[in-house]
Amino acid sequence: MTSIEQIAATVRRGGRVDRDGALALYAHAPSALLAELADGIRARKHPGRIVTYIIDRNVNYTNICVARCNFCAFYRPVGSTEGYVLGFEEIFRKIDETIELGGGQLLLQGGHNPDLPIEWYEDLFRAVKSRYPSFRLHALSPPEIIHLTRMSRLTVTQVIERLVAAGLDSIPGGGAEILVDRVRKLLNCYGKATADEWLGVMQEAHRAGLRTTATMMYGHVETIAERLEHLFRLRDVQDDMGGFTAFITWSYQPEHTELGGFEATGIEYLRTLAIARIVLDNFDNLQASWVTQGGKVGQLSLAYGANDMGSVMIEENVVRAAGAAYCMDEIEIVRNVENAGFIPKRRNMHYEILGDPIFRERHVPRMLELAVARTDGDVSRPPEIVHYAARSAEEKRLRGHGGKSDDASAQP
Ligand code: SF4
Repeated sequence: MTSIEQIAATVRRGGRVDRDGALALYAHAPSALLAELADGIRARKHPGRIVTYIIDRNVNYTNICVARCNFCAFYRPVGSTEGYVLGFEEIFRKIDETIELGGGQLLLQGGHNPDLPIEWYEDLFRAVKSRYPSFRLHALSPPEIIHLTRMSRLTVTQVIERLVAAGLDSIPGGGAEILVDRVRKLLNCYGKATADEWLGVMQEAHRAGLRTTATMMYGHVETIAERLEHLFRLRDVQDDMGGFTAFITWSYQPEHTELGGFEATGIEYLRTLAIARIVLDNFDNLQASWVTQGGKVGQLSLAYGANDMGSVMIEENVVRAAGAAYCMDEIEIVRNVENAGFIPKRRNMHYEILGDPIFRERHVPRMLELAVARTDGDVSRPPEIVHYAARSAEEKRLRGHGGKSDDASAQP
């Protein structure tokens, strides 16, 4: 059997680990060794001690969802008094605030809402691009794309084509959880997308010329071998397509979820990050998940393989609903990066460097608290919603008749 030292020597030489090697490392290597190997790969890929981050805003356009994943504390069923859909004007206001903070992109994701057909997304994307031509839309994770294929009876390729024509720039890697169907069935997320379906959307996106990210939510019902299998499946797709810009992992947040349980520890996060850097040798960028781990573990991540601090968090709704959401504005991120001995640089979704911290170039307001999708208790309905065909019985009941508004042809 190959010893831990032999596997470590292979990694140090720039060689690949296989499944058995990764499992042996993860199970038996001391954390200091995992950190040394991961940091060595980071340093080879990113010489010059630069650590990047992006200023963008994480907007969840609706929390109404029919998927009902049992690890999710964010969604509300159709008809819930706590359900919301953001209006186009609300989203424009969020973009204005993002631009004021130096941002140029929305990360736009939401629940699988049966009353938002593909036309709603197309109109929103077109409206954003016509008001803010250079603003970027990093939007709709693979399960949301699949949800749209089922609603519209179009193929994945057709849905992606239509969304790109309307203004989609790139696709976030959400909804991956663990890409093993045994796990997906236990999490009640097999129906929203199987492992093959999730990867298939990403392959289609890459074929269409889009760049995407990849994620992993670990620490719930999966075995260590399944966690590693997730990484190997991503590595295989990256070998074929090369379209992933980055990998992001975070631990399952159990509070207020149906699944319940406990959160994985900070050291488990750091070991998982390190093994991801070692296995995903064809990924350039790994983000530190300080939103779930806090600033200090986020800072330590830079010694365990991460080269990027992710996004300056302006708004967060999903992780917060499950009991965690640390807040750091650009000044705090830069402080953490510099105190760890790295050089902070702003980037875009393609990991192109945009410049030094924006607060050193001009005044930007401090963000000491995370914004939310909607103020608590605001149950207003966006005016344009009635222009789109309703599918749920509840939405039809609210409109008082069978679907569209009296003036169904009037687009927002
Ligand atoms: S994780 Fe996403 S798809 Fe699953 S229930 Fe929550 S909002 Fe819906």
